[in-house]
Amino acid sequence: MTATAQAPSAPTGDAPRRVPFARTIISDEALQRAHEVLASGWVTTGPETVAFERELAAYLGAPDAVAVSSCTVAIELALRALALRPGSLVLTPTITFCGAVHAIVHAGLRPVLVDVDPVTLIPRPDQVMRAVEGRTVAAMVVQHMAGHPAQVRDLAEAAGLPLDRVVEDAAHGLGAVADDEPIGTISGATCFSFYATKNLPIGEGGAVTTADPDRAAFLRRARLHGMTADAWRRYLPGGGWAYSVDVAGLKANMTDVQAAIGRAQLVCFDEWQRVRAELAEEYDALLGQVEGVALPARPRSGRHAWHLYIVRLDPVLGPGRDAMAAELATRGVATSVHFIPVHSFPYFRTLLGEDECARFPEADAVFPTLLTLPLHAAMDLDDVRYVCEQIADICQSADAERVGSGGLR
Ligand SMILES: *Cc1c(COP(=O)(O)O)cnc(C)c1O
Repeated sequence: MTATAQAPSAPTGDAPRRVPFARTIISDEALQRAHEVLASGWVTTGPETVAFERELAAYLGAPDAVAVSSCTVAIELALRALALRPGSLVLTPTITFCGAVHAIVHAGLRPVLVDVDPVTLIPRPDQVMRAVEGRTVAAMVVQHMAGHPAQVRDLAEAAGLPLDRVVEDAAHGLGAVADDEPIGTISGATCFSFYATKNLPIGEGGAVTTADPDRAAFLRRARLHGMTADAWRRYLPGGGWAYSVDVAGLKANMTDVQAAIGRAQLVCFDEWQRVRAELAEEYDALLGQVEGVALPARPRSGRHAWHLYIVRLDPVLGPGRDAMAAELATRGVATSVHFIPVHSFPYFRTLLGEDECARFPEADAVFPTLLTLPLHAAMDLDDVRYVCEQIADICQSADAERVGSGGLR
């Protein structure tokens, strides 16, 4: 049993169906566990956090997981753990969440943006090589866009980097499998998000998986002011007041309230993933017949995590992305766009320079066609059918208008 903010969006009478873009499910068990922790007298990092780390690592088949306050800070800490010279270059796709690039900057490093493939929205090895182009890059952030598993090994090789210099941004990648390797088990550090809209929602939260015990130890200190590991235990019976500080720390620990919610949510995760995959399947089946709508890429093998369902809209064969989004909104369907290319934001243009920001022809071409349709575990197949009917209808009207006005087909 799960509780949602509202009842599902079944139409009543003539009221149009409403399909929200996202809706956070917090299971009844998670509500109960959060209440218990809040009433327990221990609400910050503690035994629940330790248990969540153990259960997340076991779920993924990763040797260790370190829970933190967000995926953004997870990426920053994972980069800090590499102890690179300040200003070292770090590759990252330009179609990603801006926070993931801020993390590079706040780690004292310099982002080098990489163009992306228009079908997967993930950089190809040739694009990585072009971005490197004679420069010495120190590390790379690989992002599993929408839940599509990136080929981490191929990208690291193209960058000339060992796998332990790769930080994976798996904010979309929990539950994805690349060929036969679950995301979170390959590189030096993989960062996950438990933000409200992500596949395992806590509300806020993040984690890093790693196979390197030294790196895990660094992360456990750096997430809590650089204080020696397990400093949180100092208030427990038998805990001492003494601690040391041996690295530059942040305030980025996960609380036990979050961890208790996460532990309960993790029990539901496989079922939610099954629902997402089924909804994506239905979108594929129905939208595959609509001219001018290109479906999201399917991985060559392994498993897609289906965090987002992103279509590409042909601007000639349909009304165009912005008109489609506006028209869908009037019909009760909320959509979004992932992501505005990082190189188009004023802050990053100033930081990186105009020349550096003029190197992304494929991202620039595909961005205006991208539209993210609603996909979340509180939706049902009728919601997907409704969304697809509206899209087909809007495309048809656009077509009729064009023909009516003597436009070219
Ligand atoms: C959501 C997201 C993040 C940030 O996650 P937070 O937990 O909100 O910090 C990072 N990268 C990508 C690609 C995201 O979508």
